[in-house]
Amino acid sequence: MLQLTLAAIAIVCACVLVGCAHDADLSRGGDSWAIAIHGGAGAIKKGESPELEPRYRESMRRVLDEGKRRLAAGDAAMDVCEALVHMLEDDELFNAGRGAVLTERGDVELDAAVMDGATLKAGAVAGVKTVRHPISLARLVSQRTSHVLLIGDGAEAFATEAGVERVPNDWFITPRRRGQLEKELQRRAESKAAAATLDTRFGTVGVVALDRSGRLASATSTGGMTGKRPGRVGDAPLIGSGTYANATVAVSCTGTGEQFIRHSVASGIAARMALIGETVEQAADHYILRVLDSGDGGLIAVDRHGRIAMPYSSAGMYRAAADSRGRDEVRIWEE
Ligand code: ASP
Repeated sequence: MLQLTLAAIAIVCACVLVGCAHDADLSRGGDSWAIAIHGGAGAIKKGESPELEPRYRESMRRVLDEGKRRLAAGDAAMDVCEALVHMLEDDELFNAGRGAVLTERGDVELDAAVMDGATLKAGAVAGVKTVRHPISLARLVSQRTSHVLLIGDGAEAFATEAGVERVPNDWFITPRRRGQLEKELQRRAESKAAAATLDTRFGTVGVVALDRSGRLASATSTGGMTGKRPGRVGDAPLIGSGTYANATVAVSCTGTGEQFIRHSVASGIAARMALIGETVEQAADHYILRVLDSGDGGLIAVDRHGRIAMPYSSAGMYRAAADSRGRDEVRIWEE
């Protein structure tokens, strides 16, 4: 009996200690913020497009500075993620919104998703053709419907009902993306083997953030892959594959979507952290460096302590990160 009582006391003490450690962790993290942004993996090889490189850096810098300003002011992580992806969708350098890559038919089909880690509210759209900011439509799915994912005509009808800004499909198309599609179709025509593989030019955008109240959020938006079949849906709008956030971590992925779907990469990172105690870096590296094939892509992730991971296995990944402790960087390759 005495032994049992002592054991019970020991368990209670251990619980209190763990609880204290947990509280100490949170209070250390309290009021701090962190953010990471990606503009796609695998996009350009070093020295390939010297004229584009500074433009990418300037654009990422502008978006990062806006994120820093808003998070320091106390804005909610989900609002910041949506606002920054909005900016990236309007920048034709990136494969999201205007400047998105083309399907093999020569038009644009857009996918996007958001997830609020504090509430687990998630919203996504796939295959939309006339919505200027798919990320905002995805957010509205999470706010105004009881669903998570709307596709094609149904998503367009919801866009009409919600009153979001619409544009003709041509508005999204830029000469650069037309040129990339022509090259890709030519490549396929010249080689039967190549026909089975898609061009490896990505440029999806994503933002993950931890706000001053400790809330995490993630947002991802993309045109998918150059020369994709009409109707193909990638990982970005699939919650748990290309986009995920909970109370532990927020993740946004970029790369060969089919691979991220097969391995449930985004929610897998959260699971590994919760179940086997990996850090965000360990869990992110596990998928990018060991599970996926080299060249498949990369991801950005931020955990509830504000730790950021940004691994990739492609030639490069447009990325930026900042936090309340002074981290502040914009990168394309290992620099
Ligand atoms: N992951 C995106 C997709 O497969 C493409 C990308 O990241 O560039 O649709």
